[in-house]
Amino acid sequence: MATKRKLIKVRVPTRERPVEERIHDFKEVNLGYDFVTALQEAERCLQCPPDYAPCIKGCPVHINIPGFIGKLLQHRDDPDRAVKEALNVIWACNTLPATTGRVCPQEDQCEKNCVMGKVGDKINIGKLERFVADYAREKNIDEELLLEIVPKIEKKPQKVAIVGAGPAGLTAAGELAKMGYGVTIYEALHEPGGVLIYGIPEFRLPKDIVEKELDKLKKLGVKILTDHVVGSTVTIEELLREYDAVFIASGAGTPRLVNAPGVNLNGIYTANEFLTRVNLMKAYRFPEYDTPVKVGKRVIVIGAGNTAMDAARSARRFGVEVIVAYRRGEEDVSARVEEFEHAKEEGVKFEFFLNPVEFLGDEKGNLRAVKFERMRPLEERDARGKRKIVGTGEYVTIEAETVIIAIGKHPNRLIVNTPGLKVERGRIVVDENLMTSIPGVFAGGDAIRGEATVILAMGDGRRAAKAIHEYLTNRAKNN
Ligand SMILES: Cc1cc2nc3c(=O)[nH]c(=O)nc-3n(C[C@H](O)[C@H](O)[C@H](O)COP(=O)(O)OP(=O)(O)OC[C@H]3O[C@@H](n4cnc5c(N)ncnc54)[C@H](O)[C@@H]3O)c2cc1C
Ligand code: SF4
Repeated sequence: MATKRKLIKVRVPTRERPVEERIHDFKEVNLGYDFVTALQEAERCLQCPPDYAPCIKGCPVHINIPGFIGKLLQHRDDPDRAVKEALNVIWACNTLPATTGRVCPQEDQCEKNCVMGKVGDKINIGKLERFVADYAREKNIDEELLLEIVPKIEKKPQKVAIVGAGPAGLTAAGELAKMGYGVTIYEALHEPGGVLIYGIPEFRLPKDIVEKELDKLKKLGVKILTDHVVGSTVTIEELLREYDAVFIASGAGTPRLVNAPGVNLNGIYTANEFLTRVNLMKAYRFPEYDTPVKVGKRVIVIGAGNTAMDAARSARRFGVEVIVAYRRGEEDVSARVEEFEHAKEEGVKFEFFLNPVEFLGDEKGNLRAVKFERMRPLEERDARGKRKIVGTGEYVTIEAETVIIAIGKHPNRLIVNTPGLKVERGRIVVDENLMTSIPGVFAGGDAIRGEATVILAMGDGRRAAKAIHEYLTNRAKNN
């Protein structure tokens, strides 16, 4: 007779550093599970069959979630084996699990429809994925697995160039290298990683973790050329002469600005510049590192996405007052729930329904205040399901020495201006196989979507790798 399973309704919590400690540094806030707590959480999973499991359907790269959780349960008496087998299941679909486990908006993806949600808390899939990746890295289990995979790769003669070393480019590179292609990534900045390195701060995603994930790619044979700006150092046309296919994964790194008088005053940053200084150039450790960053006594961050939360929480770590001003309401905050909660815990203040209309400066051209119009929500919703808003004609002025604008980004013009490349609203146009209007040139990630998510960019990287493989296989057959 089948035994009835006891449902464990409450999620096993992960450890977090206390606010009063973490607010003074950039070290990681969430400390994740250890093997014992990961197993306790894994035991809550109902192990839905893979052809039904809604968590797999919700994951943009379709990781076999009950499959990897099942491996932890199956080998509970042998943690190293449990993790190795779980990692093997994850790697079949995702080569950057330590990153995605930390930054994916799981509440909108895999966890969204987890059946445990009907009776209690949903399974903490992201933190379980992160546990597997972290444990494997700390115990060198990922290296062991790589050593088993690399000798089995059959080298192919064709070469593929990838533009941009963010999650889309890195994923495509890993997949193509596993298929045996010679892969070279061209990256404009002096370090690979894209937003993972220059955007998302250390307190959410430690850089040494991203670097270790990058090392794995290098071991798969991927070459990364940094300080190479495609469109300037080398063109797509030139790449096509040297390589059999090209994948454009240059992201959406050009910030949008607020269209209001005074936007060029001193003290106004785009979130891109602020976060690049803080994260990539380590300005929070100035003068040990030589890039400075100026943060006034009161900082206003405009916007309420992940970028705004990262900018606000980074600014808080300089010991100053931070206000996030958003033109919509709390229900429309698009940042991950965990980041929004952490920002509130860390003392970031929120002002909703405020839209900036003017930046006010002093006689020296330094910012001194921001004038906002109060907004009001309507019943009607826009295409994204957000309530429309209108101005009330009422204004408020808030004093501040620093403003960080985080209202979104669009793709880089250098690439978008490539002759023959079809582009709409600044985004590269692709067909169902992610091929652009130039045969042999594919594109994915934020370059085709505008600012989206890490896992969607990675999903594009995987799809593009498969499509490039089919394209090159067909071309070889027809020659
Ligand atoms: C601050 C911030 C926080 C975020 N937080 C989250 C989060 O918590 N969760 C989440 O899922 N998503 C988050 N996102 C969004 C996510 O990071 C992006 O959707 C994702 O990184 C897109 O990946 P990508 O590979 O398409 O582009 P990118 O990560 O932007 O990488 C593009 C790379 O291409 C390079 N490049 C650009 N032009 C050229 C050129 N001409 N030649 C050579 N190289 C070039 C760039 O230097 C960069 O390294 C965040 C974004 C930001 C900015
Ligand atoms: S839906 Fe939830 S309970 Fe079912 S397999 Fe996925 S994580 Fe486990």
